[in-house]
Amino acid sequence: MIRSTLGNSEMRVSTGFATSSETRMFTVVIESFGVGPRRRAARTLTVPFQQLQSLMQTVAQKGGRIKVISAGDGASAPQVSSPSTEGGAIAEPAPTPAPQPPVSKAAVSHADVPVNLYKPKDPFIGTVISNDNLLAEGAIGRVNHITFSLKGGNLHYVEGQSIGIIPDGTDASGKPHKLRLYSIASTRHGDDCNDSTVSLCVRQLQYEKDGETINGVCSTFLCDIHREAQVKITGPVGKEMLLPADEDANIIMLATGTGIAPMRAYLRRMFEPEERAKNPEYQFRGKAWLFMGVPTTPNLLYEADFQSYLSAYPDNFRYTKAISREQKNPSGGRMYIQDRVLEHADEIFALIEDPKTHVYMCGLKGMEPGIDEAMTAAAAAKGLVWSELRPSLKKQERWHVETY
Ligand code: NAP
Repeated sequence: MIRSTLGNSEMRVSTGFATSSETRMFTVVIESFGVGPRRRAARTLTVPFQQLQSLMQTVAQKGGRIKVISAGDGASAPQVSSPSTEGGAIAEPAPTPAPQPPVSKAAVSHADVPVNLYKPKDPFIGTVISNDNLLAEGAIGRVNHITFSLKGGNLHYVEGQSIGIIPDGTDASGKPHKLRLYSIASTRHGDDCNDSTVSLCVRQLQYEKDGETINGVCSTFLCDIHREAQVKITGPVGKEMLLPADEDANIIMLATGTGIAPMRAYLRRMFEPEERAKNPEYQFRGKAWLFMGVPTTPNLLYEADFQSYLSAYPDNFRYTKAISREQKNPSGGRMYIQDRVLEHADEIFALIEDPKTHVYMCGLKGMEPGIDEAMTAAAAAKGLVWSELRPSLKKQERWHVETY
């Protein structure tokens, strides 16, 4: 596999998207901030977008309250909302009615999605076809791409689903191990497009306990597995992360680490030449925007594939990276995908206003509050209330979250 050695976070900007206005100014009216008499008076500050989040954090930490955020230098921009900050966190903004986008149901027929074809009592026995390291030299940890043959059974699935793996052996009480769920990283056709394989993207879980390194049972079982090994597989399960059938949909993907698994399947379905040839009914024409968070450049996953999609579909695919231990956010901390979301808030919200846009989030559970904070600030700057908009997007089946 050829890996990119480019260190840039943003490899390129597709001509299909407007460029972000990172220098755009925001006017923020703050109360109860500062010392002495200044604390009582409302203060108006004008900051570039990149500093908006750190300003909100500082205000919250110092017990201040943000009364208004408006786009522009305050001279011409209308004041659009009144979010407040309390207790160190960005609190819910005042209940200003948010414009509701027109309701559009995702064009996915849930009834057609296979579930629980194989249960733990009678699992499918899959044979390992390959088990490959996905990381470049110098990466942290161990992440493998593992492919199983599904021949001889009826296990089939669609993009965005998960399968269960029951590792060999027994637990501490001598009972067979319970199944662990993994997001499927291949399309319904499998990596060889022969409709008879399924692939996973697995990080070996490792943690320290009482000075000892503990290896995750199932992730170690999978990362160590050899070709031809027989593995108990259950499922498929899950309808949360299904891709809309609409070829003109816009798909925003927020992934941390191995949370890239379903996104890799979506992107293959959209852009992989063999997949496109196999799916005349799905010739993706929308915009796909992947935000990917990894600790270091060698930890990037499926990089060569994504680079080839960028070359082949510059107007349809955009790829933004947050490399946490190499890049800094505007406050000087680790660069996380929520920082990238804030940076590109204008464009993300412009896309979200389009009823054809879906957002998918997968990976660490810890990224959820960060994304919510970023969306709250970004929405407020556009006069929208995220705490109202998010349930509305969810109801329209346009906001998809699977984290653990
Ligand atoms: P990882 O490589 O350890 O981390 C990915 C990136 O996320 C790193 O850059 C990390 O930064 C960053 N990060 C840490 N805390 C964050 C936060 N609060 N907000 C945003 N970014 C944060 O990832 P991994 O080990 O592959 O873990 C992926 C996680 O996804 C696992 O917990 C796995 O169980 C889960 N997962 C879920 C699904 C699913 O729900 N379907 C599928 C696959 C994986 P630093 O480490 O530098 O701080």
